[in-house]
Amino acid sequence: NASSHPHISTGLPQPPDLVESEIIIQTKGLNKYFGDKHVLKDINFAVRKQEVVALIGPSGSGKSTLIRCLNALEQASSGEIYIQGQKLDPYLPVKQLIPIRRELGMVFQNFNLFPHMTVLQNVIEAPLLVRKIPRDQAVALGEKLLAKVGLSEKRDVYPSRLSGGQKQRVAIARALAMQPRALLFDEPTSALDPELVGEVLKVMKDLAYEGSTMVVVTHEMQFARDVSDRVVFMSDGMIVEEGDPEELFKQPKNKRTQLFLERIL
Ligand code: ADP
Ligand code: MG
Repeated sequence: NASSHPHISTGLPQPPDLVESEIIIQTKGLNKYFGDKHVLKDINFAVRKQEVVALIGPSGSGKSTLIRCLNALEQASSGEIYIQGQKLDPYLPVKQLIPIRRELGMVFQNFNLFPHMTVLQNVIEAPLLVRKIPRDQAVALGEKLLAKVGLSEKRDVYPSRLSGGQKQRVAIARALAMQPRALLFDEPTSALDPELVGEVLKVMKDLAYEGSTMVVVTHEMQFARDVSDRVVFMSDGMIVEEGDPEELFKQPKNKRTQLFLERIL
């Protein structure tokens, strides 16, 4: 499980060390409706610094909606979200929302790379534009991150030339480039051919062992079991059960968790 290294390592100066129990992400009584469909029901969720949380549950249970709300990609209907102690009020003007949103790096199922940019350009675009760091520094950071995900030799290639596993590793490097407080992964390996899943999970495992704070929506139960510090099971818009991976997989308490695990394992 995640060790005690500081923060996500991107080669940039790190903030002062913070207390172990620091909460990076917290929701209080979060609700989300799409029309009259109640998709998130009173979600109380917290992620501590350096914690790796696996978010599991059947399709349609609200996992994506939850992490999209955390990143203000989706607007919660009621309740509160705090990122690093700052209240994420979706009604804030975008100008005030951006710096809070920037605290979280997002990795999607379908990579969402910019097709007209090379691998390196994809990685350094946001640091250049948003963080306005000098170009030579951005390039050095980009190269360092590409080395970290094992793609140094692909720096000048366009995404169309990459395999799905390589694209997803670029997407991870791109998320890291903004030096986020936490990384949110939404089924990062679900779109990949089976033989490419391992290389992406390996990168994620390395990040976890370095002490990155991560929320991972996944159907990879072995990964959840081996790498996460805590598993959260969602069903029908609710957090039904959460706990230690070993215990939750061996002896789920809730009937719905039991049924889900029986079907998936
Ligand atoms: P999961 O990620 O666990 O599969 P989602 O968060 O994607 O679940 O979806 C939860 C529920 O919300 C589903 O019933 C889904 O159909 C619905 N939903 C998700 N996004 C939208 C949307 N933009 N408009 C309407 N309904 C949505
Ligand atoms: Mg989803």
